[in-house]
Parts: sequence; C-alpha cells; structure tokens
Amino acid sequence: KKQPVKIMVTGAAGQIGYALVPMIARGVMLGSDQPVILHLLDIPPAAEALNGVKMELIDAAFPLLKGVVATTNVEEACGGVNIAIMVGGFRRKEGTERKDVMSKNVSIYKAQASALEQYAAANCKVLVVANPANTNALILKEFAPSIPAKNITCLTRLDHNRALGGIAQRLNIHVSDVKNVIIWGNHSSTQYPDASHATVITQAGEKSVKELIADDKWLHDEFISFVQQRGAAIIKARKLSSALSAASAACDHIHDWVLGTPKGTWTSMGVYSDGSYGVPPGLIYSFPVTCNKGEWSIVQGLRIDEPSRAGMDATAKELIEEKTLAYSFLD
Ligand code: NDP
Repeated sequence: KKQPVKIMVTGAAGQIGYALVPMIARGVMLGSDQPVILHLLDIPPAAEALNGVKMELIDAAFPLLKGVVATTNVEEACGGVNIAIMVGGFRRKEGTERKDVMSKNVSIYKAQASALEQYAAANCKVLVVANPANTNALILKEFAPSIPAKNITCLTRLDHNRALGGIAQRLNIHVSDVKNVIIWGNHSSTQYPDASHATVITQAGEKSVKELIADDKWLHDEFISFVQQRGAAIIKARKLSSALSAASAACDHIHDWVLGTPKGTWTSMGVYSDGSYGVPPGLIYSFPVTCNKGEWSIVQGLRIDEPSRAGMDATAKELIEEKTLAYSFLD
C-alpha cells in the first residue's frame, strides 16, 4: 500500500487554491492510487476562509485524502512536505506598480524559502505559480541553498496548454493530437510561444504543424498573440483571472515531473538555466523538458530559427531585469 504524499498549497484560500485542492484530493496530480495529505497555508486575514476550504474538503469525502492541515503558520505548513505548490502572493491591482508587488513578493518568497529548507522533506519538489513566477522561484532557490536547484521550478504549463489548444482550434482537431509546442522564457507577456517543432498526429502519421499551417503570418503573429493574450481575454470574460485552467496546469506540471512525460513528447517548465540554447545561466527560464523517474532534463539539439532566437533573447533580458530589481529589494 502506498504511503501518503504530503503536498503543501500556499494561498490555498484564493481562487486558484480553491480549484486546485479538490483536483489534488481526487488524484488528478499524482494518480488515482496515490493517497495524499494536504497542508494548506494562507495569511491570517484569510484564516476563516481557509478553514471553510478545509471543511469542504472533509465534506467531499475524498477516498485518497488522508488528512488536511489548514494553518497560517509557515513552519507548520512546510513540515515534512514532499511537494510544495506556491500559489500565495500579492496580486497586482490597477494602479499599483509592478515594483510594489515585486518588493512584497520577494520578501514572502525569501521567508518561505527558509521555512521550506528547514522543515520540508528531503528532496521536496517545488512549483511556484504566484507571479512574478520565475523570479519568485529564483529567490526561493537562492534562499534555500540546501534544496537542489533542480527541485525548484515555476509554472508555464498553462501557456503550453493554451498553445496546444490554439493550434488544435486552428486545425479543427483535438488538442490531444497536438504535441511539442514550446514556451520559452518568462511567464509574462514577453514569453515566446514556439510552434516550429510542434507536430500533429494524423491518420497518415505524424506531421509538422509548420507543414499543416503553411501560413507563416498565423504562426508568427496570431498564434503568439493568442497565447500571450489568452489570460487577458479570460479576465475580460470572467471578470476574474483564470483559475481552473491554472490549477489544472499545476496538476499537469507535477504529474509529468513525478510520473514522466510520454515517450516522444516534451512539456514546458520554468527551470534553472544551465546555459542551454544560449540562455544565461542563473535564471529560472522556461524550456522544453522531458521527465523521467522524477527528474526533468532540457531537450537538447533543437534548431532555433531567427524569430525564436530574437524572442528567446528578449524574454531572457526581461528576466535579468526582474532579477536585478528583486535583488535591489533584498540589499
Ligand atoms: P489567485 O489564486 O487567482 O492567484 C494566485 C497567484 O497565482 C497570483 O500571484 C497570480 O498572479 C498567479 N498566477 C500565475 N499564473 C496565473 C494564471 N495563469 N492565472 C491566474 N493567476 C495566475 O489569487 P487570489 O488573490 O484569489 O489568491 C491569492 C491567495 O494568496 C489569497 O488566499 C491570499 O490570502 C494569499 N496570499 C498569501 C500570501 C503569503 O503567503 N504570504 C501573501 C499574499 C496573499 P497575477 O497576480 O499575475 O494574476
């Protein structure tokens, strides 16, 4: 019988948290035979709402859910966790500057890094969702030096899934027949969605998306803006930011990391750059990765065309600027 895996979700009373925790408790993240214990963290103003989430989890009587800890104490939340999903953070509201949000979140991620380092299980895997996701993850990495760098990642899977969906819509096929898009770089508007290596499974075998969509303008303009603008389109429609799709993508990210990517298929993850594809080392940057036995590796040897190169460099430049800004708050 499998031992329960302890999963922490921070910002668990927020809207992504509310969509995410039942998915985890149903086995979407780690499989339908893997029991889980949830550690839910939020800040004191959200404590009552957090307790409400705990009550609902109990009422849902999930067979796989072996325990729920709901707390506003970071140390308690981090205790013994095998997986940490970091969703908590201050949001950028109209009229607030990016700088203000960054300064608050950098100190949160610094503090949470120390708690994870001291109290989480050895080899804990970390996924940062809260924005600026790449830079929050980098700060977390810097202030938790005993957690291996390869265990700290950020979410770009939602962008990856949106890219698959955009291509499926354009070709009028099912999303599961499209694979190997890439999200390069920052989880922000400078990200570079790349379909130049993507393929489609057809009755006549695997075909490249480039071949099927000969319209270069669509691939270089409309596809990229579709992926980059999708978040804004959802806010306009829902008057709230995306939550169920973000939660689902977080499950996909951990699922594939722990259980492996299907043969011949890669996904996109924000990971610590080792200099692959000329991306500066020392950034958390989204790359195409395959996963096997709980470890990701960057897909090597892809040919990079000129538009991709320019896009990849621009998003790296933004990440360097974010890093410098983040550090200026820590001095
Ligand atoms: P959400 O649950 O909607 O979002 C949480 C975070 O995820 C935000 O930083 C958001 O960034 C980010 N995010 C990343 N990708 C996406 C995406 N594709 N779509 C939407 N969001 C995305 O926010 P709520 O305000 O509902 O909940 C936040 C929770 O965090 C609250 O419960 C709050 O109490 C808690 N919190 C915890 C703190 C802490 O741990 N110290 C500090 C502050 C708040 P973006 O802003 O860019 O949308």
